[in-house]
Amino acid sequence: MRQAIILGLGLQLSDDAEKDIRQLDFPELYRAGYRGAVFDKDNCLTLPHQDTLVPELKEAWEECKQTFGRDNVLIVSNSAGSRLDGGEIEAESVSYHLNAPVLRHLAYKPSYSCIAAIRAYFSSLPTPVPDEQLIVVGDRLLTDVIMANRMARQRPAQRPPHASKERDTLASEQGVRQAGVSETVMQRVGPLTVWTDGVWERDSPIFRVVERRMLKAVERWWVSGDGIVPGVQNVQRFMRNIPQEVPLKEEALWLRAWNSFRRS
Ligand SMILES: [Mg+2]
Repeated sequence: MRQAIILGLGLQLSDDAEKDIRQLDFPELYRAGYRGAVFDKDNCLTLPHQDTLVPELKEAWEECKQTFGRDNVLIVSNSAGSRLDGGEIEAESVSYHLNAPVLRHLAYKPSYSCIAAIRAYFSSLPTPVPDEQLIVVGDRLLTDVIMANRMARQRPAQRPPHASKERDTLASEQGVRQAGVSETVMQRVGPLTVWTDGVWERDSPIFRVVERRMLKAVERWWVSGDGIVPGVQNVQRFMRNIPQEVPLKEEALWLRAWNSFRRS
């Protein structure tokens, strides 16, 4: 099972990862400075077109809301709360069953209009949450992950003091530093994106094949040999190891027939 945690254009991949939000360490995310979460609904929290939480996720979902606060956890779906949801009936139902707000939006993920609606929501909270303090969790690369990537922006990097001192020393030794010329290093910041690769019910198989091929291409271009893009924080600390259920070995048909024959 593979899960990708993506920050901006960087990826960190793990082949032995779990497949859903149970693997996320929400208290550790909070300690790292994250203050809110955007969740996809279908095949991430619920079965497609269902309004109730997948029972296996109950504990993780409650922990998430306790960690960030109920209102800081927003469900953004291209079904519930979207223009497909006439009368917002599905949004009301999902919000009731999952006890969390559901974004009402006219434009689908990953549009900039949808991003604007998400930002408006988190800006309206008593303690506003900027993009870089959000995690965005979803199971689709072409909607959830691309949207989170679009929320990233460039800003001047804050270099640690020792780094700039070393750099200045090196520059003066080489005689290349010119008075009055300052160098600004830009840094990409944005939400932490979590792609949950496991699906609770098969849907859109062709799209998923396309997405997997895209991911392969991105891996080839962006990920270094150890699976980590230089400059991207190590996000393994946010992932929990969940004991894997050992599947029961299914008895072969011929063996069952043979045993049945012996017992008879
Ligand atoms: Mg989904």
